Amino acid sequence: MKGTLYIVSTPIGNLEDVTLRALRVLKEADVIAAEDTRHSLKFLNHFSIKKPLISYWGEKEKLKADETLQRLKDGQAVALISDAGTPGISDPGTLLIRKAIEAGITVIPVPGPSAVITALSLSGFSTEEFTFFGFLPTKQVQRKKMLSRIMLEQRTLLFYEAPHRIREAMADFAEVMGDRKVVIIRELTKFHEEVLRGTVSDVQERLDQSTIAGEYVIVIQGRPESEPLNMDDALAEVRELMRKGLGRKDSVKRVAGAYGLSKKELYDRSLEGI
Ligand code: SAM
Repeated sequence: MKGTLYIVSTPIGNLEDVTLRALRVLKEADVIAAEDTRHSLKFLNHFSIKKPLISYWGEKEKLKADETLQRLKDGQAVALISDAGTPGISDPGTLLIRKAIEAGITVIPVPGPSAVITALSLSGFSTEEFTFFGFLPTKQVQRKKMLSRIMLEQRTLLFYEAPHRIREAMADFAEVMGDRKVVIIRELTKFHEEVLRGTVSDVQERLDQSTIAGEYVIVIQGRPESEPLNMDDALAEVRELMRKGLGRKDSVKRVAGAYGLSKKELYDRSLEGI
């Protein structure tokens, strides 16, 4: 008989945000696979949940995924949790989930908090279409490269960022994406929850006056639809990307896709002007 893998979301700060179903599943599981058992013990003890724990933290993830898979094959019910929020969302867990799916194990989600969706709902930006990039690259060169790659994106953009890099990240947003609207959310659901809204430059000023600590989500408005997407704008974008070091062909490819223009036409026109 095969077991069941439950993907259980846990609070991202406020312990009241756990669901009744999550508590029941954790109490009924044979074993809890936790990212970091010491971290999760605080949460589990709070709800008097005493279960055997398997840690799948860091380098152990692959080895522990195989061990846990064997338990599932032996018929056990395994509850997968991460340090906070939804397992697999900028957290480990996906490896075990994938292996379980491949082995034909039943996988059941037990939904709950995740910082990305919580921040999106609070942002006030369009929620019809959005895109989540997880953590920004830590090196500035790569971060700027990534932002250049997505600067034309019209969907709402979400990022996780560490506190010690938040100012650098905002400086790069200002340089690459311009002075768009942004919402920076700190310590969601916790005592020091704080929301900074404004243009990138407004928020940069406010960050200079605020305490930089805790956990952050950055939500940035997609490229406004009101901005006309015509050939002149597209050519300006191509020039801008080339100025930043991207080759003509790649710049044209990226811009033509976003503007819905013919690559050949944009390429030929770019040769006239540059
Ligand atoms: N699995 C988690 C989830 O579902 O949101 C994300 C884990 S990831 C390792 C941790 C990052 O998520 C933090 O650095 C921060 O960017 C974001 N995050 C998590 N909890 C948060 C909170 N309470 N407030 C703001 N950001 C948070």
